[in-house]
Amino acid sequence: MNRKNTASDLKSCPVCGGLIIRENRDISLNYNGKEITIDQPGRYCSDCGESFLSSSDLAETGKKRIDFQKEFDHLLKSDEIREIRKKMKLSQRKAGNIFGGGPMAFSKYERGIIKQTRSMDVLMRLINKNKISLEDILEVE
Ligand SMILES: [Zn+2]
Repeated sequence: MNRKNTASDLKSCPVCGGLIIRENRDISLNYNGKEITIDQPGRYCSDCGESFLSSSDLAETGKKRIDFQKEFDHLLKSDEIREIRKKMKLSQRKAGNIFGGGPMAFSKYERGIIKQTRSMDVLMRLINKNKISLEDILEVE
């Protein structure tokens, strides 16, 4: 993978001058008092342990990070959103147009780039439990 971020060009640690190595490390994430450990690829100083994470390093664990927050917030996970959308037989673009958020919204929810709003979450849950149908929603538009 081509990494253009300056963090990936580091040969020696700007903190201690130590050797920078690329590897995966277990790092812990905290969110409102909850903690998980994730396997985070990145560049790390072999001496002081300082981490240098590029945007592509962070993108690789983005879904795990967001899903961890969603679990705490009691929001549907990225894959659950995808399942419900597929159950409705809608493309991501069409789902974004019908439910709001724009054509890229569902792509972002499902890849774990952003969290859906509480109201979007409620809507998806209602549809998933067959409390309301897609036709009901199209009717009010
Ligand atoms: Zn260092």
